[in-house]
Amino acid sequence: MKKILIKNADWIITMDEEKSRLRNSDVLIEGREIIGVGENLIDQSLVDEVIDARGRILMPGMVNTHHHCFQSLTRNITACNEVDLMPWLTAQYKIFEELTPEAVDAGALIGLGGLLKSGCTTAADHHYAFPNKIKRELIDVEIESAQKLGIRFYPTRGSLTLEGAHIPKGLVEEVDDVLNDCERLINTYHDDSKFSMLQIGLSPTWPQFDMPSVWEGSLELAKKYGVRIHSHLAEGVDEVKYSREKYNCTPTEYVYDKGWMGSNVWYAHSIHLTDTDIEKFAETGTGVAHCPVCNMKVNSGVARVPDLLAAGVNIGLGVDGAASSNSSNMMTDIRVAYLVHQLTYGSRGPTAEKILEMATIGGAKILGREDIGRIKVGMAADLVLFDWSRYELSGGCNDPVSAIVMSSDSQMIDKVLVNGELVVDGGRLVNIDEESTGRHVNAVAKKLLASAAHKVVGLEQDIR
Ligand SMILES: [Zn+2]
Repeated sequence: MKKILIKNADWIITMDEEKSRLRNSDVLIEGREIIGVGENLIDQSLVDEVIDARGRILMPGMVNTHHHCFQSLTRNITACNEVDLMPWLTAQYKIFEELTPEAVDAGALIGLGGLLKSGCTTAADHHYAFPNKIKRELIDVEIESAQKLGIRFYPTRGSLTLEGAHIPKGLVEEVDDVLNDCERLINTYHDDSKFSMLQIGLSPTWPQFDMPSVWEGSLELAKKYGVRIHSHLAEGVDEVKYSREKYNCTPTEYVYDKGWMGSNVWYAHSIHLTDTDIEKFAETGTGVAHCPVCNMKVNSGVARVPDLLAAGVNIGLGVDGAASSNSSNMMTDIRVAYLVHQLTYGSRGPTAEKILEMATIGGAKILGREDIGRIKVGMAADLVLFDWSRYELSGGCNDPVSAIVMSSDSQMIDKVLVNGELVVDGGRLVNIDEESTGRHVNAVAKKLLASAAHKVVGLEQDIR
């Protein structure tokens, strides 16, 4: 098997159990696996490739726990700016109704490509829009896009099964169709072996806006096949109001009473939680995908991250849908996560190291992975090299964790490896041509938006 030696990194932020940071050290990779971490590991004549890591910080690849890649084609639309979650959703759903397999592929190439370029090596993606008028094998399409890029992928099969004020008829699916597709996807793709590049999750889109039978069926499948369940919870005040009026409880109490919490379940956002709700997350081992950029963009609020952490709840980070965060950038996510909690909670806010912990081992734990998220012998070779010799970092090369979380952006990323394969080099994607892919995606996006322009006010103007 091919051996790669990453040599003389200024710093290695291992995220191992001791949170070790190593100075002027090396990482040795064999095939997909890290087989050595430390100084002077091997004579470089004995390896197939040497990566000179002087002037670089080496860190485990980050894990994104919540996204909707297809929204890469529905962002920067006037009707979705300066509005709250519900009007945002209403405008977006009208466009989602026109999705095609070509658009899903284009969205995945940009969403997942953007994640790789910002240091994310494992990405969960929640796809929930399956228009009735097309063939619905859209998860298959994004799996193919992920494989082209070389990212470790965790697609979750979502659904919209309840027609309502915000959900157009053309997106509402039959429960049996959803569950059959979930089972087909698990049987076709789910790989739970060590260093697996592809696992499937099930993700009814909202607890109170999907049919209970989708939830019950998904939980049965999760038990049968050992897969995980994901959804949104307590994202906006409207959701809490609806829950209190209709069910006389909080959204968290609702899912707790239904048995829709557990160590194989994680919810995105989970902002509007009472103290009792937080206890229920901790008691059941339910994870949280914290999505600070999206939460700010659609005015959802600030998640009670210090209180969740104090209660022992496991938290990962999510860039969330590209149309509500307007990018797919993990570096933006970690920086904003740090800043928003400093602003809100002061010294109670998570430290920069805690933010990186959420972005790596926190996310790995949410996805049930023990083989990613740390630089350690036996772990997958998912690695990011940050170039802190760049001009704009000069004068700030002190604490490497602060540099990554507070001073940097994705331009600092030099190389990214997934399972020992180089997928980003010099900040550019290795496996696709960025220029021609970008031109193709722009054309597909214009086509998609043009097909929905008669339904969304101002869209015609946006795409002129
Ligand atoms: Zn979402």
